Amino acid sequence: MADVVLSRRSLLGRSAGLAAGSAFAGLLGLGADLRPATTRAQALRIRDAKTYPSVCPYCAVGCDTVIHVVDEKIVNIEGDVRSPINKGTLCPKGAAIYQLHENPNRGQQVLHRAPGATEWEAMELEEAMDAVAALVKETRDSTFVEQTADGKTAMATTAIFSLGGATMDNEWNHIQQKLMRGLGVVPIENQARI
Ligand code: SF4
Repeated sequence: MADVVLSRRSLLGRSAGLAAGSAFAGLLGLGADLRPATTRAQALRIRDAKTYPSVCPYCAVGCDTVIHVVDEKIVNIEGDVRSPINKGTLCPKGAAIYQLHENPNRGQQVLHRAPGATEWEAMELEEAMDAVAALVKETRDSTFVEQTADGKTAMATTAIFSLGGATMDNEWNHIQQKLMRGLGVVPIENQARI
């Protein structure tokens, strides 16, 4: 059996965590009600915020949300208690929607790695969009089949597959499938299907 080795730092950290946990449990055990402090902190955060109703973009459940905005900046997103679908709750994924908008770790630039290259290079969005469009057209034109070998009408390419992501809304998906069908793409799928 492998030995379990605890460093002094992790042991102290665990001890502190246990102590804090014990103190917290002790407070609860003594009947301390922490809800007012939590509620007040939340109230301060969204005080004077404008509220906008919205929908979680992540899956087909379509939970309703409320977005709080202060000075044109999103400060909070939470489940909408008026919703008959989720009644104010959100699953862990939905509870992290805020990070879609505010996240310093998100890339802000298109990165491109040329065939055979080992490094990524920044690329202008317009340039990247033009490159994608050119490659899609080239692939579609070179693989388009008007008729099958036995003479049946096909008018399709099987070289392109469209996979939508969960953050695509109804309207985007509608336009997306129109574009794909116009190109002759047959397999069109979306992870969310809202
Ligand atoms: S991802 Fe979670 S919060 Fe979002 S719609 Fe689905 S169940 Fe609701």
